[in-house]
Amino acid sequence: MSRKKRIVIALGGNALGNTLPEQMAAVKITAKAIVDLIEEGCEVVVTHGNGPQVGMVNNAMIALTHEDAAQPNTPLSVCVAMSQAYIGYDLQNALREELLNRNITNIPVATMITQVRVDAQDPAFLTPSKPIGKFLTKEQADELSQKYDYVMKEDSGRGYRRVVASPKPMEIIEIGTIRTMVESGDLVIACGGGGIPVTLNGNHLKGASAVIDKDFASCLLAKELDADFLIILTAVEKVAIYYGQPNEQWLDDITVLEARQYMKEGHFAPGSMMPKMQAAVDFAASKEGRQSLITLLEKARDGILEKTGTRIHM
Ligand code: ADP
Ligand code: MG
Repeated sequence: MSRKKRIVIALGGNALGNTLPEQMAAVKITAKAIVDLIEEGCEVVVTHGNGPQVGMVNNAMIALTHEDAAQPNTPLSVCVAMSQAYIGYDLQNALREELLNRNITNIPVATMITQVRVDAQDPAFLTPSKPIGKFLTKEQADELSQKYDYVMKEDSGRGYRRVVASPKPMEIIEIGTIRTMVESGDLVIACGGGGIPVTLNGNHLKGASAVIDKDFASCLLAKELDADFLIILTAVEKVAIYYGQPNEQWLDDITVLEARQYMKEGHFAPGSMMPKMQAAVDFAASKEGRQSLITLLEKARDGILEKTGTRIHM
């Protein structure tokens, strides 16, 4: 019997929503899209982003320090860990229910709290770029940067936000356990929010003040699991060149070389489509037969059946 197609699915912001009730509702739709792929005979591993959720946890933990002087500030790595557990809980609950609704009773669902090693010398630490948490006044921003050494930046006239470093993922610490679970047929949620960023300090893994891009962490996971497909589910059905312009052109099937050319020409916005294309190209170029797909959450099944989405291959 030929091996099942192994797919790593990266879920974007629209798969989870921005608030607790939004997430509770969104994961039901997300679970349907994922179980669709399992019904198509695929072996699925799930990863996800955590932008709004890690900001939420970070704000809540800052509020705690205001209420109780005995509470020290919570490191960002701990906030990422909390967001993984919270999102994993909602996702694994919804996935379990959707599987049972379709009479699939032999696939256990579990979330792996995942640490991802980053390089302490990564230049990204010198130029924090990823905004998290809510908008603040100049006074509030100054207070936080004095008190906790946070880097605060004005965000396009809307107020100040904390910005954090987004270093490249180097190694998934729990990869052995993730692989064992996947090999035994479990539906695993891993590398949530890009993984908990840690740096190596002898035998100690030290939490880093950073948020790893989930698209890059998903690419690394897909390579490590020798997946056939990396599917990035987001808020657009296809990737475009000349996006939002009169000569906009939606892409169906492109080679790694074509994708690299489009990236060079600047068709993809940094911070949104660019990291997805980089991750998609990196995975598709890493081994013969590997493919990446970028499409809309609700179109996952059509995407895998090659009816829609943007496919990137060698
Ligand atoms: P996610 O939360 O899934 O990571 P992002 O908002 O970061 O989603 O990225 C997806 C968004 O990228 C799309 O909704 C779209 O507005 C934007 N985008 C930027 N450039 C392009 C492009 N060339 N083609 C398609 N979408 C693009
Ligand atoms: Mg994004």
